[in-house]
Amino acid sequence: MIPYANPKAQYLTHRLAIDAALARVLASGQYILGEEVRQFEQEFAQFLGVAHAISCGSGTEALHLALVAAGIGPGDEVITVSHTAVATVAAIELAGATPVLVDIDPATYTLDPARVQAALTPRTKAILPVHLYGQPADLTALGELARRYGLRLIEDCAQATGAQWQGKRVGTVGDAGCFSFYPTKNLGALGDGGMVVTNDHQLAAEARRRREYGWVDRYISSCPGWNSRLDELQAAVLRVKLPFLDAENRRRQAIADRYDSALAEFGIGIPARQPAASHVFHLYVIRHPQREQLLAHCHAHGVAPGVHYPLPVHLQPAYRGRITTAGPLTESERAAREVLSLPIYPELQPEEVEMVIATLRAFREESR
Ligand SMILES: *Cc1c(COP(=O)(O)O)cnc(C)c1O
Repeated sequence: MIPYANPKAQYLTHRLAIDAALARVLASGQYILGEEVRQFEQEFAQFLGVAHAISCGSGTEALHLALVAAGIGPGDEVITVSHTAVATVAAIELAGATPVLVDIDPATYTLDPARVQAALTPRTKAILPVHLYGQPADLTALGELARRYGLRLIEDCAQATGAQWQGKRVGTVGDAGCFSFYPTKNLGALGDGGMVVTNDHQLAAEARRRREYGWVDRYISSCPGWNSRLDELQAAVLRVKLPFLDAENRRRQAIADRYDSALAEFGIGIPARQPAASHVFHLYVIRHPQREQLLAHCHAHGVAPGVHYPLPVHLQPAYRGRITTAGPLTESERAAREVLSLPIYPELQPEEVEMVIATLRAFREESR
């Protein structure tokens, strides 16, 4: 089976360097928030071109920390999308705030700026766009809305590490950027990890103390906090992989180019690319009205695509009937029925890409 993502292949690519880095940490005797974490935070900040990087336990926690550090909590509303990983919405509720879900632009699958205005209330405090599948949301339009209405702009960059909007890395345009190092992400650890980045000194200091019990000085809590730390083993692995990220993202883009040119003639909806954005193809997502039949056909022919995501957040049992929505979420619901994520990862071989294409071609021939 050709999977849609392959974290083990990533480990094998970097095996010698990763094994050496892990051995170094094991021998060091320092396993949490030590030298590896300090260095990785610096290197990641430098890679993005941002003043502060504060590591933490996961992408969900990065969002949670950024929201709390931006002063957002109970009584505040945060505008985001329903067509996302549930983590985006879960983090807003962890901060005690109220998510308000808005529909997506069906071409890019990201927060539609034209629908944000109608969702604003006197309680709105932030806009939280998701750079879904590796493509930045329209940060120019969303940035203008945030400025006009005095709102925070917090970017969910979990799927878009390294992507750019008008030449700037995502995460550095808004008040804060939040990253996940879950193993399948473009920059993946061998466990959980996350990062908040910002140019706002106060937000950075606030996130830094909240992640460790509100400490500024050890054992003395200056504000309520909790525990969301990155461990040394994960930081050491991420330091090995970061220098290769741009080249690996280019490899994803080359695979996407090949899919684009082959699939267009099959009448399959290929991903739209915005001219202002560089899309880093965390996922290569097509849409097809007979998604379930296409998925079954792929499974029968040795290809295992993913579905991101099968149910929008507002229809999931945990949220249905109680979550706030602004306007109809027609496009989010249609995307959930039609999207399919094809195999894409840096180690995917050219002949495997051709096998995926041949599988899709056969589906078209059979359904004629
Ligand atoms: C993966 C992901 C998250 C959460 O990251 P974790 O590290 O799994 O907590 C948040 N938002 C999006 C869009 C994601 O894809």
